[in-house]
Amino acid sequence: MAFKITEECSACGACEPECPNEAITEGEDIYIIDPDKCTECMGYYDTQQCAEVCPMEACVADPDHQETEEELLEKKKRLHPE
Ligand code: SF4
Ligand code: SF4
Repeated sequence: MAFKITEECSACGACEPECPNEAITEGEDIYIIDPDKCTECMGYYDTQQCAEVCPMEACVADPDHQETEEELLEKKKRLHPE
C-alpha cells in the first residue's frame, strides 16, 4: 500500500530527502507522494521513512492504493533495476 500525505502537512520538507525512491515532491500547499514510486520503503528500511521524520504525523497508508508485499517489491525492482 503506497503512503500518502494528508492535509496535516506543514510543508516542512523533512520527508523529501528521506525517501529512497524520490517519491516525495513539494506540491502547491503540501508535499505529495507519487503512488507509482512509493514502495513503503520495502527493501530499504523496515519502517516508512517519511512517517518516521514527519512532525505532523501526516504520512499515512493510502487505502486507495492497496498492494501486496510482492507487488511492492516488483515496484522496487522496476525503480532500482541495478
Ligand atoms: S513510505 Fe518510503 S517509499 Fe513511500 S513515500 Fe515514504 S519514504 Fe518514500
Ligand atoms: S515531513 Fe510531514 S509535515 Fe514535513 S513536508 Fe513531509 S509530510 Fe509535510
